[in-house]
Amino acid sequence: MVMCMTDRDRLWFIGITKDARTAGPGKRLELFLKGCIRGIVNPCQGCFNPTTWEFGGPRREMTVDEVVDFIVRDAWNRQVTFCGGEPLLQTRNLIKVCRRLKELDPKFHIVIYTAYVLENLLRNGIVFVPRACDGPEVHEALQVYSSSWTEDRSRYQIATPDEILELLKYVDMLVDGDYQHDKRLPVSPTMDEGMFIGSANQRVIYAAESLRRDPSGQHFEMLYADEYNRRMACQKTCRCCGHALLDDSMHFCDEDCEQRFVERDEYMKIFGGA
Ligand code: SF4
Repeated sequence: MVMCMTDRDRLWFIGITKDARTAGPGKRLELFLKGCIRGIVNPCQGCFNPTTWEFGGPRREMTVDEVVDFIVRDAWNRQVTFCGGEPLLQTRNLIKVCRRLKELDPKFHIVIYTAYVLENLLRNGIVFVPRACDGPEVHEALQVYSSSWTEDRSRYQIATPDEILELLKYVDMLVDGDYQHDKRLPVSPTMDEGMFIGSANQRVIYAAESLRRDPSGQHFEMLYADEYNRRMACQKTCRCCGHALLDDSMHFCDEDCEQRFVERDEYMKIFGGA
């Protein structure tokens, strides 16, 4: 199969949820990227999304520009989450999407969930050595996703450590670590906006802010997921973006958030919906 550059500029998705409440602060546009090596090799017990594992089968393909246009149009409060599957398999094109979003509006708040652990990503990047049983659809996906591969297609460099670091410059919160069912965080009445469902081994890493302070990537500020949820449960949050407010008497972070919320409210009164 001959692959042109246009094909390589596409991202593969399996689904999209609008106004998701459990994928980071506030109501978020949540995009599910297709494919999970962990899922096809040794899935996490209790994985919430097995339909995302396979590289073959149905998918929605969008160019980098189409993804950016879609997010600009549909993320009314500028809150976006990429999950999967394993979104970091598409690091190469996610860098372009996230960089463009931040250039268009620095208020975009980006969350990415990954089963990989930050320290390993920064040491090794992501490499995959296909097994004999992996069919052509796996190789097709990896040629779209990867930075480079060997001539005999026996080893794919999906993302280098430098590419991971570049992506993290635009990611406000990286949630890392695999889902571990025995450490599952309970679904409770407090598990609402600003919380997320996952397991206590996962960490919320304030990537972009940490890299602004120390571009070397040696010092990342982070919280374990249960600590993060506990902190958010006792915070008053902005009605628009869902982020913690500094002052209990406030309802919004700033005028921009207030205006977005009012516009959205008016829109929903006319057109209805969630
Ligand atoms: S929980 Fe995530 S990383 Fe684990 S198998 Fe499911 S999609 Fe893959």
